[in-house]
Amino acid sequence: MLAETGFIPMDLIIKEKKINQHVRIQKKDENKLIRKITTKNSSLWQREMGQLMEEYNLTPNDISNKKINTKEMVKKANKEKFWKQIQDEATQKSKIQSWIIHRDNIKLRQWPEYMNRLGRKECSTLIRARGRMIPTKDNMKTKYTDQTCRLCKQGYEETQKHIIEECVGTCNTQKQIKYEDIFKDGNTEEIRNMIRTIDEIEEILKNNE
Ligand SMILES: [Zn+2]
Repeated sequence: MLAETGFIPMDLIIKEKKINQHVRIQKKDENKLIRKITTKNSSLWQREMGQLMEEYNLTPNDISNKKINTKEMVKKANKEKFWKQIQDEATQKSKIQSWIIHRDNIKLRQWPEYMNRLGRKECSTLIRARGRMIPTKDNMKTKYTDQTCRLCKQGYEETQKHIIEECVGTCNTQKQIKYEDIFKDGNTEEIRNMIRTIDEIEEILKNNE
């Protein structure tokens, strides 16, 4: 349901609807009034459709070919577009590489199952954790000269793993995350609880900057 309502950004949904409408019109008999109007009198619409067809790699042949499901093609393209948007937003290029090395079973252009079940902000947190972008000292080496943990002050290096899994300074919020679970696509509720804990940990780090 999330995917149908507001999860995929509105601009992509609008594009999808426009293309589907265009395809419906193109499939109509040439003598039909709607087809005459849109092809002859609405050059703006035609120009926009031309651009959209190009953006979504659709040819007039795809529309007339009954075996090709353009609706599915556009839907799939939009998922990929959105997936890419989220990655771009949540990550820097070098950081995402480390995540991809970690997750050899995730392909860059694949739509992970959990994305269908989580909200945008939740996905963003998870991608940050997987891409080692939680603002620990170790993840932000240029910002801190002293790398020891600011929360427990026990001399441990402030790595993401330490902060999430071991640090006693976060144990009030921490609901025992096993570090490697961050990289697993498990049960939705478990992922969601884990994300909530990571959000809290990020908050503690920010408050102790
Ligand atoms: Zn610590």
